[in-house]
Amino acid sequence: MATAAAAPPLYASSSSSSSFSSSPNKPLFNNIFFLRPPLPSTKLTTTPRLSVSAAATTAVELGQAPQSSTPAKTLPFRVGHGFDLHRLEPGYPLIIGGIDIPHDRGCEAHSDGDVLLHCVVDAILGALGLPDIGQIFPDNDPKWKGAPSSVFIKEAVRLMHEAGYELGNLDATLILQRPKVSPHKEAIKANLSALLGADPAVVNLKAKTHEKVDSLGENRSIAAHTVVLLMRK
Ligand SMILES: [Zn+2]
Repeated sequence: MATAAAAPPLYASSSSSSSFSSSPNKPLFNNIFFLRPPLPSTKLTTTPRLSVSAAATTAVELGQAPQSSTPAKTLPFRVGHGFDLHRLEPGYPLIIGGIDIPHDRGCEAHSDGDVLLHCVVDAILGALGLPDIGQIFPDNDPKWKGAPSSVFIKEAVRLMHEAGYELGNLDATLILQRPKVSPHKEAIKANLSALLGADPAVVNLKAKTHEKVDSLGENRSIAAHTVVLLMRK
């Protein structure tokens, strides 16, 4: 179990670890240690990361009412970035944004390997200052094995609303050499918007190849980036 992040010290300690000390046991700047002004108290608040991640798993499992997870520092806007990559292997379905895309290979993963939904979840969690998807839905937990990634999205959206935010807009980029995404783009976007409970006008999806280089360009992997802007409700 992790612990909440400790507040940073207000001033330097007399630790011997400073590489600027002339003596390992005698700090160089003894006389100015207490001249540094204290940081504003708002920067010292901690986010209840633990209770939130624990609540996330529990709420999904039991369908409980939201538990308290309001970030300590309330901002009018919060941005988050998500990245994910999966190896492509023959014999697996290729699920992107909840849509089954015909292809000769798919993602070998603990869940359905939906690279887009995973990185969207991480972007939302990141914007909320929460742990990443791997911590909230550990891949060594059998209850998530084969789970559709829509479960993770719905939980991330629940946490977003619980924290008092709604989606401003989302911009995602898929990176894959094959197959072409354009025939499926509207279906992916529509499904992603529905999962987010968002107007499709604020959900953008782009796709690009990797110029046939590296694993992405050699059809051995697929990746996605997502940036989200959350707005205070
Ligand atoms: Zn993933």
